[in-house]
Amino acid sequence: MSKVILITGCSSGLGISLAVQAAQAGHTVYATMRNLDKRTALDEAAEAAGVTLNVAQLDVQDSASIATCVEDVLGAQGHVDVLINNAGAGFVRSTEQASEDDINWVMDVNFMGVVRCTKALIAHFRERRAGHVITISSVGGLVGQPFNEIYCAAKFAVEGYMEAMASYISPHFGINFTVVEPGGIASEFAANVMKQVEETGGMLDDEYLPILQKYVGGSQTRQAGSDIYQTADEVAAVVMECVASDAPPIRTRTSKWGEAFCALKTDLDPDGKKLQQQVVDTFLS
Ligand code: NAP
Repeated sequence: MSKVILITGCSSGLGISLAVQAAQAGHTVYATMRNLDKRTALDEAAEAAGVTLNVAQLDVQDSASIATCVEDVLGAQGHVDVLINNAGAGFVRSTEQASEDDINWVMDVNFMGVVRCTKALIAHFRERRAGHVITISSVGGLVGQPFNEIYCAAKFAVEGYMEAMASYISPHFGINFTVVEPGGIASEFAANVMKQVEETGGMLDDEYLPILQKYVGGSQTRQAGSDIYQTADEVAAVVMECVASDAPPIRTRTSKWGEAFCALKTDLDPDGKKLQQQVVDTFLS
């Protein structure tokens, strides 16, 4: 069935793959980005794939831009079936090294951005008794990692937010919630993190430096030669399975590596459905 799908963060990386694969699957796609001057890569990918996309401006940090975009899509299509919260940004600094502005920014893009976009569509989904919110989290939404405490906290927040809504909105209003938990994705993400570090004073020469160097040095090796990293197309294919499913998971990893890395937390309940039932039984029966 063809669906109307709104995707955030489509100027690069996973967003481009999601938009193209959704259109290839026959869906009507609204591929959004905060800065339309950066649409060339998306346009080229769409042209190479022979698909048509609706490209629109949406900044997840700006409620007015979200409202305008949602209003335009609803005006043109009458409804939205799927929201894919993909926009996000990494951040590698210890708590001691991070400024309060840094921390607010990481939480705002990665967590509040998800809340804002979901809030903009949830009443529409409730009225239709249908809809699917898919949020791109990370294995970092399940497992805390070095120098990533602020980013992981934002992704953990996203996981709790989605899990809580799945506990009562799904059974009562028929809206599905899915968090997708990729490992590494070959995209602009890591380069953007390092750019952000450089722009805010570089690696600080403090007691954390040797640990940070170990982490950053290791991440280059990890990227080059292991199965931690997937292509954006591989991750997008997993998301498309969730879009197509009549009973999508509440959470899913995207690779064997991700599954193994998170197994201590996910083995008992890989798709989150048992926990959902436990919460329903505890609070709503
Ligand atoms: P990416 O290539 O850096 O793409 C991130 C996208 O988010 C870009 O389109 C970026 O737009 C957009 N974005 C940032 N701030 C925004 C804002 N305020 N409003 C709207 N869009 C904004 O990284 P990616 O790997 O494709 O990341 C996609 C998702 O996967 C993110 O949620 C990320 O946390 C998650 N993830 C990534 C990895 C990884 O290793 N790459 C691993 C696990 C999960 P601009 O071009 O304007 O900055």
